[in-house]
Amino acid sequence: MKIIYTVNEMQTIAKQLQGKQIGFVPTMGFLHEGHLSLARKAREENDIVVMSIFVNPLQFGPNEDFDQYPRNEKRDIELAELVGVDYLFYPTEGQMYPRKLSLQMEMTDRVHVLCGASRPGHFDGVITVVTKLFHIVQPTAAYFGLKDAQQVAVIQALISDLNFPIKLKAIATIREEDGLAMSSRNKYLSDKERTNAVELIKSLRMAQQQILSGKKNVDEIQSDIIDYLQKHCHGKIDYVQLWEYPSLQPATITTEQLVIAVAVKYEQARLIDNIILDWQGNVIEDVQF
Ligand code: AMP
Repeated sequence: MKIIYTVNEMQTIAKQLQGKQIGFVPTMGFLHEGHLSLARKAREENDIVVMSIFVNPLQFGPNEDFDQYPRNEKRDIELAELVGVDYLFYPTEGQMYPRKLSLQMEMTDRVHVLCGASRPGHFDGVITVVTKLFHIVQPTAAYFGLKDAQQVAVIQALISDLNFPIKLKAIATIREEDGLAMSSRNKYLSDKERTNAVELIKSLRMAQQQILSGKKNVDEIQSDIIDYLQKHCHGKIDYVQLWEYPSLQPATITTEQLVIAVAVKYEQARLIDNIILDWQGNVIEDVQF
């Protein structure tokens, strides 16, 4: 595996690789099985795998955890190598943003709800960095996790609106044994919070049970999840929402893919989770865009 620290070198390599299938896995590092599952899938499906590690300041709000975001370069390099990454693009902030940008990208659709509403500007930062990374790496396919379902919806719109010749690959959420979605931020949970955090997925599975038994009233499902979390979850509820996926428009009876998503704030970490279902209550493995 080659580690690349500059934009210039990455662009030179991307040029040399033209004509090959290049699978790209953008991350913010502190790798766990979720990231590695994306890389493994990319390894299976492409000639070349490029992973990037860059904690993008643009997607953090002024009071968010940019400075505290966990980092472990040595371990990340070992893990990336282990799963067969060919090129690890590891730029500094100075490489990605050598001066203040002279333009502003703004996402106007699919961001009025969920994390887009809770974290104003977050997805503008995401589309800016992803656009830059797509230009630098020039992949033929890009791998994103459905753990961040809204991010996948936003990237799908970005690829389509800006005609990137890139196939979007949405990969299922990898979970701990008890069901907690893996996340770099889980490290900041106290032992008590870690035990309690399983309630996020339990609340979603309860909602799935309701849909399986025929419930189709969005408001009732939402308020039942809130009731459940208020009873069982020690964190502060940020949101509980149900939308059509990936449009993130209100779900109706004709909606084919529903996303049910929750966000909860513990003392040092804000956790998100979601499930994507049809109205029969079946989990959709192969999400359609
Ligand atoms: P991050 O480093 O948090 O920006 O995540 C990088 C990529 O890994 C994103 O596409 C995430 O959606 C994906 N990812 C993060 N956690 C998981 C998980 N538990 N399962 C699958 N993919 C994940």
